[in-house]
Amino acid sequence: MCTEPTAKPVREERRSAREEVEEVAPGVLRMQLPISLPGLGHVNCYAMQDKRGVTLVDPGLPGPRTYRALSQRMKSAGLPMKRIHTVIVTHSHPDHFGQVGALKNRFGVEVVTHKSFRTFLDPEAEEDEQDLQVSSGKPIDSDQTAATDSNVLDGLTPWGGARYQLPLQRKVGYWLMRKGAGKFMGTPAPTRRVDDNDVLEIGGREWTAVHTPGHTKDHLCLWDQDGGLMISGDHVLPTITPHISGMGETADPLADFFDSLDRMKELPGVNTVLPAHGLDFSGLADRAEAIKEHHRERLQVLRDASGELGQGTVNDYMKRLFKERSWGSMAESETFAHLEHLRIAGEAEVSTEGRLLRYEFS
Ligand SMILES: [Zn+2]
Ligand SMILES: [Zn+2]
Repeated sequence: MCTEPTAKPVREERRSAREEVEEVAPGVLRMQLPISLPGLGHVNCYAMQDKRGVTLVDPGLPGPRTYRALSQRMKSAGLPMKRIHTVIVTHSHPDHFGQVGALKNRFGVEVVTHKSFRTFLDPEAEEDEQDLQVSSGKPIDSDQTAATDSNVLDGLTPWGGARYQLPLQRKVGYWLMRKGAGKFMGTPAPTRRVDDNDVLEIGGREWTAVHTPGHTKDHLCLWDQDGGLMISGDHVLPTITPHISGMGETADPLADFFDSLDRMKELPGVNTVLPAHGLDFSGLADRAEAIKEHHRERLQVLRDASGELGQGTVNDYMKRLFKERSWGSMAESETFAHLEHLRIAGEAEVSTEGRLLRYEFS
């Protein structure tokens, strides 16, 4: 679930899934699984083997098509499906966790996520709300954003716009997942929730869990210091930037994302980055900085637009930030995240007209 290319000619994240299994680092196999989401043609599932069997990272979308593709690739790598003992999920998007239910049901796999992992399909989500806000360390600003929670309930976004309607096919898919139709598509219940800096032994390597909130609050990267590897999920991708949603649980997801990108720059010795979409690459620190720069430029676009817009709505600013083909709720949500970032930094003020938020720069 990523949007907004960063102006490079080749979008490797968009290409169809390769059928061949490739060893991208000693003992680390990349299996590309087909997906079809905006801007994305595949998701990378990484497989590592140890004495106990196989660990997978991010086993793709729910449904039989992905399961078949995964089985074929496992077979061609000489790995029986029943050898899978652990699945690690980098974050709570369906192209990353989709097969967890099926694998858990069939093989009783261990499911590892960050401790804050939850999907929006999680029936316990509402009960957890309080805890999650506290554990984020950044309670939602009750004056501005949380005050509009009632909007969410009556079909409006937190910024007062109309709520995005999911295409029917996805609605049905999500409904099936929620109903647990389930065994095959069931949402994952983690069996092990890890914290930042926890160490996991996978495939004969020691991986440090690196909590990288921003794209989602529960995003996890895996760092093998000795081997110089970083499994980066959607946090750092080769040519596109992940969607930053203003609908998340923290007050300033863009600030979280910046901090998480700085984290990537600080970790020493990474030679190879293994992203969830696109090919492996080197230069993690440079790529993290380029993504930050991309967002700084977009913040400047908002500042520049503010003179003309005066008290602009999120939708007004979105039209300055995104090309028309991208207009919609995801673009609005990302614009909202950027506007809130500037408001929290003291650069913008928000006022309400009815339920519609209007942002003006000081
Ligand atoms: Zn994602
Ligand atoms: Zn993704």
